[in-house]
Amino acid sequence: MPPWFQTSALQRPSLISTRHYIAGGWVEGASGDAVNVVNPCNGDIVADIRAVSADQTSQAISGAKAAFPRWRGLLAKERGAILRRWAALMETHREDLSTIMTAEQGKPLSESRGEIDYAAGFLAWFAAEAERIDGEVLAPHKPDRRMLVLREPIGVTAAITPWNFPSAMITRKAGAALAAGCTMIVRPASETPLSALALALLAEEAGVPAGVFNVVVGDGKQVGKMLMESPDVKAVSFTGSTEVGKILIRQSADTVKKVSMELGGQDTFIAFEDCDLDKAVADAIVAKFTTTGQDCLAANRIFVQRPIYDAFCEKFAAATAMLKTGPGWEEGVEQGPLMNEGAVAKCEAHVADATVKGARVLAGGGRLPKLGSNFFAPTVLADVTAEMKIFREETFGPVAAILPFETEEDVIAAANDTEYGLASYLYTNDMRRIWRAGEALEYGMVGVNTPSFTGPPIPFGGYKQSGLGREGGAYSLDDYMETKYLCMEVA
Ligand code: NAP
Repeated sequence: MPPWFQTSALQRPSLISTRHYIAGGWVEGASGDAVNVVNPCNGDIVADIRAVSADQTSQAISGAKAAFPRWRGLLAKERGAILRRWAALMETHREDLSTIMTAEQGKPLSESRGEIDYAAGFLAWFAAEAERIDGEVLAPHKPDRRMLVLREPIGVTAAITPWNFPSAMITRKAGAALAAGCTMIVRPASETPLSALALALLAEEAGVPAGVFNVVVGDGKQVGKMLMESPDVKAVSFTGSTEVGKILIRQSADTVKKVSMELGGQDTFIAFEDCDLDKAVADAIVAKFTTTGQDCLAANRIFVQRPIYDAFCEKFAAATAMLKTGPGWEEGVEQGPLMNEGAVAKCEAHVADATVKGARVLAGGGRLPKLGSNFFAPTVLADVTAEMKIFREETFGPVAAILPFETEEDVIAAANDTEYGLASYLYTNDMRRIWRAGEALEYGMVGVNTPSFTGPPIPFGGYKQSGLGREGGAYSLDDYMETKYLCMEVA
């Protein structure tokens, strides 16, 4: 364990758990397999977890099923009070939770703290929203009938979550599911289970009843398949790659499960000539390099209109070169390590492919071996074209691709020339263009002159192969609810 991360250095060392949380009990994994949690910064083992067995996963499902009637039977304000306590405990333990996240995920401590606030925000927001889950009385189309629409919790749900946001991707799903009256089993990414287990500990302390929230750690394929194929699990919410999302959608068919999918992106940043150039550059740095580029909102393609192209490239490259890269726990670090060798190799491959095809490297360009094998320099490629891999594939790393464009029509066509449609960023001060381009972009989210638009009330999600459904806001409750129509004859 690295010297800065002794469990005893945490204010509350017991927040580190290597046991699974199943039906209100903390149990050692019974499978023979180990899940090694590795610090991506230096390769040190942070924790060893014995993976959950198939029997234990079944127990989690039956525990969630048994807990459902009582949980749904609580008043919304009672469920809300418990969620609010859970959020408050996250805030109380913000520093420890952030330290744990940086140890297993690698992101700078400042970003981990930001994620804990963001994650707690979902619990608090859905705590309030629980009390606003209303039905409807319809205007009858027959004279002697009265018609009602009721919304009911769907039952046992499951969440399969990625490593780039180890806490927020859990609370964004669990907040909505528990507020709606559902129970949940979470299968966190094998790379970042400690954040998930710490959340479970705080959920228990907040008074979430046994079986309502469960966390099992084990192989994604095995546990995922069991959750997808179980007839008792009525809805599954997944955040991760489009490739895995498609597997899960196929697996959901036999039980006709409700699925919510937050998948990959090929996010697009557009700077028109009339934008505020310095703001656009500063915001593009945020849009590209947050979470060291390992972010579904990362602007993988930055289109800049020709008259400001050279100035933008110069300023953006200079700002990129100033980013401080290093271990996440060091003061002032803005870029951490990538998650693993595969992620570094993908950045390297995208840079090599682009430069062979004519792109210019304006900053960075390769690995940073002195810092460690998972570090890659924040990189800027200019003169990127549609023939380069980086134009179509999500890099998921700190490589920015800049492309010039001439007209609004050209850039909208290029922006929409992708199978993805998660997020786009639009920089212009022309109100008419904001409406035109904002409506023409085939993306679930458009940030207009801002790189920062996420938070509990918004419908987060994408068009096309970026996913199904929306997470956050009142929209996401539908993923965890059934709509029931009740018709009464009153004649
Ligand atoms: P990933 O490889 O798809 O993994 C995500 C989760 O799925 C992990 O927990 C993984 O388990 C599990 N998994 C892998 N194969 C599985 C299978 N066959 N059945 C069931 N589960 C399986 O994605 P990632 O590399 O962790 O995350 C990066 C991707 O997520 C990017 O494409 C990014 O854009 C996307 N993302 C999207 C959003 C959004 O809201 N739209 C947010 C964040 C990230 P293991 O731990 O065992 O591998």
